[in-house]
Amino acid sequence: MQIIRKNTRQIAVGNVAIGGGAPIAVQSMTNTDTRDVEATVAQVKRLEDVGCEIIRVAVLDMAAAAAIRAIRERISIPLIADIHFDSRLAVAAMEHGAQGIRINPGNIGGLEKLARVVDAAKVHNVSIRVGVNSGSVEKDILARHGHPVPAALVESALRNIALLEKMGFAEIKVSIKSSDALTTIDAYRQLAAQADYPLHLGVTEAGGLIAGTVKSSVALGILLSEGIGDTIRISLTRDPVEEIRVAYELLRALHIRQRGPELISCPTCGRCQVDLFSLAEKVEQHVQTIETPLKIAVMGCVVNGPGEAREADLGVAGGHGVGIIFKKGEVFKKVPEGELLEVFIAELDKMAAGDGS
Ligand code: SF4
Repeated sequence: MQIIRKNTRQIAVGNVAIGGGAPIAVQSMTNTDTRDVEATVAQVKRLEDVGCEIIRVAVLDMAAAAAIRAIRERISIPLIADIHFDSRLAVAAMEHGAQGIRINPGNIGGLEKLARVVDAAKVHNVSIRVGVNSGSVEKDILARHGHPVPAALVESALRNIALLEKMGFAEIKVSIKSSDALTTIDAYRQLAAQADYPLHLGVTEAGGLIAGTVKSSVALGILLSEGIGDTIRISLTRDPVEEIRVAYELLRALHIRQRGPELISCPTCGRCQVDLFSLAEKVEQHVQTIETPLKIAVMGCVVNGPGEAREADLGVAGGHGVGIIFKKGEVFKKVPEGELLEVFIAELDKMAAGDGS
């Protein structure tokens, strides 16, 4: 199956292109106090290490807007300021170096204030995400539809887009998020049919690691498989680093982007005679910062193990107190269980560094 991406306009957030055939960008949002520059920079660095390409920070007051300057000096990826209600914060964030802002044009305080925000965006070369969600649909639209149904979200997004277009602004990307997966799918499909701005995909308030991953994977997976979506954010009630990991696994599953090793591991069964859970978890942890796309298999036994392990660039199959390491389809070494992790990781690092011999 080949995914044919919908053709959208291309905009830029700093040096990252969004839409128009650019790779689907992976983004996240910090959960530190933006005014705490040290903590925010430290979190962004951890996110950069696992492949985050754009970071968004909440801007709640002028001190947070001012902190953007110091944060940006120390991070490598473009920064988006997330603003609600207060146009002055949006303008200040851009003056302090935000490369993108996320607002709801409809709740920024009226047309005059919106015009000031748009003028600043033009001056500072900043793109704007029109961020509609179920809770932000305008009262008149909500009254007509009764609930924040997909058509209501789309109507709100189109209205907000039109406001910006009237002001001669087109550096726009759009999101219409709901906490319900099916509503999200329906809304984005409708929007994609009616506008050609790049789309930021996400399910809002998706939940914890398991619920949030499943919900986001269903909604975003279906949309991405239909070619809809230009940048994604997985929302989880967790360390944002997990959001990036889930995002890349999702893109990998759809064969859209591959970053770092793909880890295949078996669920284990009664045949397994090594502590595979611990081995697989430690290997998984280790591969997070490796960017080389490799296929790695961690299998519990030699029944199915060698087959899978042989298919992989590097694999291990457990035995009775030992593990057999396979490299590019060949048995490489038999190692006592106690040394397995160390030997396996040493080989993995060698391969990741390009020394697969
Ligand atoms: S690889 Fe072996 S241990 Fe793992 S599930 Fe298959 S049969 Fe069970």
